[in-house]
Order: sequence, then C-alpha cells, then structure tokens
Amino acid sequence: MSASSHATTFAPAVTADGKQGLIGLDRPGLEAALATLGLPPFRARQVWHWLYHRGVTSFDAMTTLAKPVREQLAERFSIARPEITRDQASIDGTRKWLIKMNDGQEVEAVHIPETDRGALCVSSQVGCTLTCRFCHTGTQPLVRNLGPDEILSQILTARDALQAWPPVGTNPNNETSTLTNIVMMGMGEPLYNYDSVATALRIAMDGEGIAISKRRITLSTSGVVPMMERCGTELGVNLAVSLHAVTDEVRDELMPINRAYPIKELMKACRNYPGSTNARRITFEYVMLKGVNDSLADAHALVRLLSGIPAKVNLIPFNPWPGSNFECSSRAQIERFAHVLLDAGYASPVREPRGRDILAACGQLRSDSLRQKKVRTETVVPAEPEAVAVAP
Ligand code: SAH
Ligand code: SF4
Repeated sequence: MSASSHATTFAPAVTADGKQGLIGLDRPGLEAALATLGLPPFRARQVWHWLYHRGVTSFDAMTTLAKPVREQLAERFSIARPEITRDQASIDGTRKWLIKMNDGQEVEAVHIPETDRGALCVSSQVGCTLTCRFCHTGTQPLVRNLGPDEILSQILTARDALQAWPPVGTNPNNETSTLTNIVMMGMGEPLYNYDSVATALRIAMDGEGIAISKRRITLSTSGVVPMMERCGTELGVNLAVSLHAVTDEVRDELMPINRAYPIKELMKACRNYPGSTNARRITFEYVMLKGVNDSLADAHALVRLLSGIPAKVNLIPFNPWPGSNFECSSRAQIERFAHVLLDAGYASPVREPRGRDILAACGQLRSDSLRQKKVRTETVVPAEPEAVAVAP
C-alpha cells in the first residue's frame, strides 16, 4: 500500500452488519448521508451536535430527534466506537489506549495530563513507512493510513474514557481541562496521510462540537516538505518539525526522509510556513542521542540553522525501546546543549519523558501483532512492575 498524501474521497467504513459509519464525515458528507433517508440538513446539524458536542454513542440517546427518525438512523448507520483492547495508566498519570479498528489493526493514543490541561497524542497511521532509526514505530512491518473516522475515534474514545464530554446545558465552547490539546505525534507521519488528518482535525476544530482551537493543535512532521505549506494554509495548526540532526550526513543516517528532503529544503519550508510568528513559533524536536548528535558543536550549528525562523527547540531525551541501538545523552550533556541554545535566545525545555513505564513516551508507540500477543498475556501480570493495567 502506498502511504502517499493523495488520498481519495473518504468513504466511511461499513460495519460487519452492513451499516455505514457516520463518524469522520464532514458536515456536507453527513448531510448527504442523511439525505439518502430523505432527512433535511437541519437533521444533520442535530446529529452533528449529538456526535461531537455530546459524544453520544447510540442514536437512541439523540433525544431531540423523534423516535421514528432515531430508529431509521440506527437501521442504516453506525456511530459505534472502536474497541479498546488495552488501557494502561502510568505511575505519572499518562494513559495509553490500544484501539482496534474494524480490520483488526490496532493503533495507540496517549493522554498526557498536566495540572490545568491535557494533551492527547494521536496516531495518523498504523505503523509508519519511514524508518527513523531511533523510533520504535518505524520498525512496525505493517503500515496503512488511518481514515478520518479512525483518527477522530481516538479523540472520541479518549473523551469517553476521561469523562471529558461537557455536561448537558453547557455551551459548545467546551474546552475541558483534561483534554485541551491535540498533538499529532503518535504513530505515523501525518503529512503522508494529509487528507484524512485534515478532515479529522477540521471536525475536531469545529466550534459546534469538540471545539479544540487550531492554536491548541500541533502537527509533528519528519519533514515532508511538499506538504508543509498546504498544512499551514489550510489548517493553520502549530507545526513541530523532527529535526534531530544538523548535518545531512547524520540526518540521512537517522532519518531516511532526509535523502528526499535535505536540511536546506526543510529549513526553507519552515521559513515559509504560513502563520508562524514570534508568538506562534515552530517547534524543532531534537532527540538527544549520546555521541551521535549531542556535541556542543552540534548545538552551535543548530543555532545557525534556526536563524531567521520563529523557533523554539524541544530537546527530547531518547526513549529506549526493546532492541533499540542508541543511548540517551547524559543529563549533564543535555543541560550543556540546552545552555548553548539558551545563550542564543532559545529557551529549550527538555521534554520530560512521560509514560515510559508503559512504553507510551515519544517514539515508543508500536503495536504489531507480535507485541500485542505478548501484551495480552501481560494484562494478567504486567511485565513492567510500574505499569498498571486499568482494563480490560
Ligand atoms: N512522524 C512524526 C510524528 C510522530 S513521532 C514525526 O516524526 O515528527 C513524535 C516525535 O517523537 C518525533 O519528534 C520523533 O522523532 C520522536 N521520537 C521518535 N522516536 C523516539 C525515541 N525513541 N525517543 C524520543 N523521541 C523519539
Ligand atoms: Fe515515522 Fe516519525 Fe517514527 Fe520517523 S519518527 S519512523 S517519521 S513516526
């Protein structure tokens, strides 16, 4: 399968019982689907409200619709959530769900809570066609794009699990404090599945619904240069770029995509990213790999590369996974590296690894059938002592 960005128009999944899914259709799509039953556009608006503002999972709960209409909808359509096959909570509050799609493929979504907000790390593909050497997702053999319904379902599922739907009677402007931000930083390269990601994010941004503003959404790319401008113009979300090296020589080795879009082209696309200003900077992610990209000369070169770009840097301690060949830089070296950046005016928070005990930290997501098999046995006795299996 090709993971290109040229997706076709979305045809929602048909469930085993022959019903057409409604989740993931944009407003015109939902109207068109309901029109096949002779229902007028205002019905689509009502259904939208129930799906994305209230988060209901059955037509029966849509009490502003007459009973016969609800029955008609239930006969033809499905709004069922995908199955959660594993739900883990880290000792630091991070939570990871393994979600099974209709074809049996599974993806992971991770919730990272903070005091007054919380981010959901959403996957865009099953696995990833890119094989960055430090990333566990890149070692997953089977890859496919997720549809908008499957991307959106991760958000809906997290809201269900976190009980983050707004109470009845509140306004649509419903930011809840547990799930305020979305980061497209889960499994996969979002810009290789642009159309589905865009449809899902537009639905998530819609003010009458989930209503998470574009300022609270960050899309992370490994550097799919030809898609970056479109992403900025059409979606206007915050951009994060996985840079991880300052020379093509090293980046070619770490991230094969660099051979197609080398650093110079990538930085040019960043310079041209629509809507980036000093108030809305591009985040450059930089994974700290001992002896590979973490010298002070690298730090100085990074400063030179960023010149002229409204940028912030996120230093990510390398998160090891079973079989990985790298070591994380020492704490002291990360601090020295950060200091060079700070001297140049870049506050560079070191991203504290969250959910390491449940393999939920950056770059650790992977869910091929082999590991799933192992994981299922772990639901009885967690292999990592700190991991707490919440359900099933
Ligand atoms: N494919 C996209 C988004 C998903 S990865 C991208 O590459 O940007 C999210 C971030 O985690 C990326 O910056 C990625 O490079 C980083 N990452 C991958 N593996 C990691 C690991 N083992 N330790 C720390 N960060 C890692
Ligand atoms: Fe894919 Fe991103 Fe992992 Fe690279 S770092 S393999 S692009 S998910």
